Amino acid sequence: MSQAFRALPSVDDLLQNHTLRGYERRVGRAVVVDAVRAALDDARAGIRAGGDAPMPALLLDAITERIESSVRPTLRRVINATGVILHTNLGRAPLSQDAIEALQDAAASYSNLEYDLAKGARGSRYTHAEDLIKRLTGAEAALVVNNNAAAVMFVLRAFAENREVIVSRGQLVEIGGGFRVPDVLSQSGARMVEVGTTNRTRAADYETAITPHTGLLLRVHPSNFRVIGFTEEVSPDELAALGRKHKLPVVDDLGSGALLDTSIYGLMHEPMPSESLDAGADLVTFSGDKLLGGPQAGIIVGKQEAIVRLKKHPLVRALRVDKLTLAALQATLLHYLKNEATQKIPVWQMISATPQTLQTRAEVWGERWNKFGLDAQIVDSVSTVGGGSLPGETLPTRAVALTVPSPDTFSAQLRANSPPIMARIENDRVMIDPRTIQPHDESLLLEGIERASRLVKT
Ligand SMILES: *Cc1c(COP(=O)(O)O)cnc(C)c1O
Repeated sequence: MSQAFRALPSVDDLLQNHTLRGYERRVGRAVVVDAVRAALDDARAGIRAGGDAPMPALLLDAITERIESSVRPTLRRVINATGVILHTNLGRAPLSQDAIEALQDAAASYSNLEYDLAKGARGSRYTHAEDLIKRLTGAEAALVVNNNAAAVMFVLRAFAENREVIVSRGQLVEIGGGFRVPDVLSQSGARMVEVGTTNRTRAADYETAITPHTGLLLRVHPSNFRVIGFTEEVSPDELAALGRKHKLPVVDDLGSGALLDTSIYGLMHEPMPSESLDAGADLVTFSGDKLLGGPQAGIIVGKQEAIVRLKKHPLVRALRVDKLTLAALQATLLHYLKNEATQKIPVWQMISATPQTLQTRAEVWGERWNKFGLDAQIVDSVSTVGGGSLPGETLPTRAVALTVPSPDTFSAQLRANSPPIMARIENDRVMIDPRTIQPHDESLLLEGIERASRLVKT
């Protein structure tokens, strides 16, 4: 063993290596030294575990791989073959071409972000999206913040700090990623008053809980689960009527919120902001990167007076969105205004993809992979919307099912691809769902699958 240790070169020896000196000029000495030390540590660990010293070429490969990976951004594009359209772990909604261009323009140049070009005077960043949101939802006013979690927290803080917020026990939900309604409530400085039961809450439950300390009435859309059976919920209209009667603001957190009717595509109807507003809610909050299909943002719509109060609140500055978000959001909203959302917004293109298109794409890929020597079959499967919306709802799809010796090993190889390919395993087969594969991903997907199958075999 001591002989194997002695066979290892020193850090200084390695730093003299021609290739590594080339790297040193490009990425700096510190990165190279770190990579050399780490690779030598690995080699020593290997020897302690009973192995030999690595061949010099292998050691050099290990070092260069470490250098390459330390200068590679960790946030990378991936190909989503899972069929989950709004995959929170994979960045939720991909943006439309127009949104990407708007984002690029805003990033590369100065802009009139807070400048009124007509008046030649200071303007507000919020004007850029507000008018569009008002037109699309019928709201009196609107405000955009960083995300919907921030929107909910902000509204609670502004209207119910040190006051009571009445909420149904059936709506004390956890959205995932640490968003739990009771925690958000307590962080906002509001006191939670739970009413009703998990499965049934009536208007009278809210009414009996109202005291002089009540700040607002809260509804939360239980967006990622469904209660079925013996259930009762207070409708937005009833809650709004109660709010009016007791002069209390009614806030509706829709979560996803949809600007198009999801039921057209065979899905359950996802609540739309305009419906909550029509019912009489004072404020409605929803996400920018769920079914809206835009960038991460929290959109607050509602009564003029309530929005003005938020705009004057000191917290608004801490939650303000940047120009890139506003640029992408505005471009996304314009698709709805121009009635082209299903053609231009990726999320809606995916939701509205026809079985025929999915079948055709799956067939072309399957045929190519079969020719390549893989066992690929076209099968019925289901895609989901995801992103905490439409729980339990599925969209029928046609997927390519790859039968491979080890689905886990194959999936791991796909994740190691560049770009990584995320697939689902179903019935011991690796499933590739065309629904979430964007046209610009296609050739990379084809190559990635073939590369993985070669590497797994060798
Ligand atoms: C997703 C969701 C949130 C959080 O929204 P983000 O945009 O992820 O911050 C809040 N409430 C509900 C009901 C949700 O579904």
